[in-house]
Amino acid sequence: MHITLIGAGLARLICAQRLQAQGHSIVVYERDSHVGGRMGTRQTELGGFDHGTQYFTASSERFRKEAARWEKAGWVLPWQGRLVTLENGIAKPAGRSDRHRRFVAVPGMAALGERLAQGIDVRAGQNVRRIERYGEQWLLAVQSETVPIDASAGPFDAVIAAVPADIARLLLQPVSPLADRMGQEHLAPCWALILGFEQALEVDYDGAWIKGSRLKWIARDTSKPMRRPGEHWVGHASPEWSEEHLHDDPERVKEKLLRAFHEATGSPVQPVFADVHCWRHAQATSTLPGDCLWDARARIGVCGDWFSAGLDGGGRMENAWLSASALADLAE
Ligand SMILES: Cc1cc2nc3c(=O)[nH]c(=O)nc-3n(C[C@H](O)[C@H](O)[C@H](O)COP(=O)(O)OP(=O)(O)OC[C@H]3O[C@@H](n4cnc5c(N)ncnc54)[C@H](O)[C@@H]3O)c2cc1C
Repeated sequence: MHITLIGAGLARLICAQRLQAQGHSIVVYERDSHVGGRMGTRQTELGGFDHGTQYFTASSERFRKEAARWEKAGWVLPWQGRLVTLENGIAKPAGRSDRHRRFVAVPGMAALGERLAQGIDVRAGQNVRRIERYGEQWLLAVQSETVPIDASAGPFDAVIAAVPADIARLLLQPVSPLADRMGQEHLAPCWALILGFEQALEVDYDGAWIKGSRLKWIARDTSKPMRRPGEHWVGHASPEWSEEHLHDDPERVKEKLLRAFHEATGSPVQPVFADVHCWRHAQATSTLPGDCLWDARARIGVCGDWFSAGLDGGGRMENAWLSASALADLAE
């Protein structure tokens, strides 16, 4: 079959790899200029910052095996950072409620997406605006930055939309009853703060969940394996705060988050580099039960990290991987 996948995040790349290995011909359309989606690494003059996914864990047997394979290939390494919870400036060791090792891709999270995309036909900078029926097949209406009108791509025998729930709903609604089986799953935004310091911060932890702050998480990016040396930090604002300040001026957001960073760490040291990034669709606030949705007759499907895929909760790389693997098995 000639299959198209929309989006080149973790879920699509896994699905694309599997289906290609089964002999199908695959074309992936990706809106951004790069692959990997939310597994992002922002390149700056100081080096890379993992401003999206921080690390991943593997609780299911299948994903544990995949993580072991990636580790053996040298694509990921365990992160042994000291993690705490911070409340009113007091750090307490984070409980080991997550019994699983934390992994990071090396030399940055984005590298995993680049590796998984090898050998796959990814058309970057192509925003899919509509899915259209073409007899028994499918066409995509695709917009690129360089061409002012939508181009038609296809026909394809099957289409897999593996995009955040809010986008999947819009794409599927006009063409497939699968849209009615989706609930109100929504991915909340996240403002990310990126900070580079010349001087070491006097804190004895590498990552912290923060209580009572607009920042819910901070991490010393340079404590992860195979990063450039330096004092680089990333912070994530809470979903509630990010939603409320979604359309704010980035400079104002930077000021506010930097203040929250100083309050949380108690460190007065000023950064030599500071920036923010808004992840419009960051973390699933609720999950759809099941692994994925697939209409075998019409050959259209959807997968992503907003499916529970047998896990407690969603919005993690493991959900995306399990969901994509399940859809690849069905679409075979
Ligand atoms: C700030 C942040 C922190 C996170 N921290 C963690 C963590 O610590 N641990 C963890 O396990 N997970 C974390 N996650 C979640 C993790 O990143 C995701 O679960 C995983 O990357 C999801 O992969 P995906 O392929 O399902 O979606 P995505 O990575 O979102 O991929 C979707 C892709 O589709 C593309 N796309 C969307 N619409 C279109 C369109 N119309 N046409 C073409 N392309 C389109 C997008 O550009 C994107 O590349 C975090 C996410 C964020 C944002």
